[in-house]
Amino acid sequence: MTNGPTFWDIVRERSGENIHRCFYCQKCTAGCPTASVMDYKPAQVLRLIQLGRKDGVLDSQAIWLCVGCETCGTRCPNHIRLAPVFDTLRYMALEEGYRPDPMVYALHRSFLNSIRLWGRVHELSMLMEYKLRSRDLFSDLGMGVGLILKGKISFLPERIRGVSEVRRLYK
Ligand code: SF4
Ligand code: SF4
Repeated sequence: MTNGPTFWDIVRERSGENIHRCFYCQKCTAGCPTASVMDYKPAQVLRLIQLGRKDGVLDSQAIWLCVGCETCGTRCPNHIRLAPVFDTLRYMALEEGYRPDPMVYALHRSFLNSIRLWGRVHELSMLMEYKLRSRDLFSDLGMGVGLILKGKISFLPERIRGVSEVRRLYK
């Protein structure tokens, strides 16, 4: 038995979310757009945290598949937002040497780099970086060209006016 903070305490403190209030109603899981591809569903991740299953949580792919849409937070009867919880778990996983699926990690890096560079996502350059990072150059090429030709993806990026403030946030 240890006297230090539990995994549950640490996640609660770092995320700022009252995860101890979760009573496992699973409304978060029912509304989550990415739950179907997660190895543990959002409510299950909370349950594993409550049970102190740190390795299982930090090694899961679920924590990398949350897209931060906040649907769970609006559905939860206890106002628990899982996006900050998953953010915290990703930080903790990296700090402790866990690595996500390389393709998922490549997408995260490309997405964040795009925001740092332009102040918002520029899909085309983000996808090009993702393709290079993941070394999966040709799998969606036809769809990408179609989106560009239909004007769904802009060819040139636009940098927002406050990009220096965005970069300061990154620092
Ligand atoms: S909706 Fe809220 S209370 Fe219900 S399982 Fe999800 S986090 Fe827990
Ligand atoms: S914020 Fe994450 S966990 Fe919550 S519904 Fe959206 S994708 Fe699912």
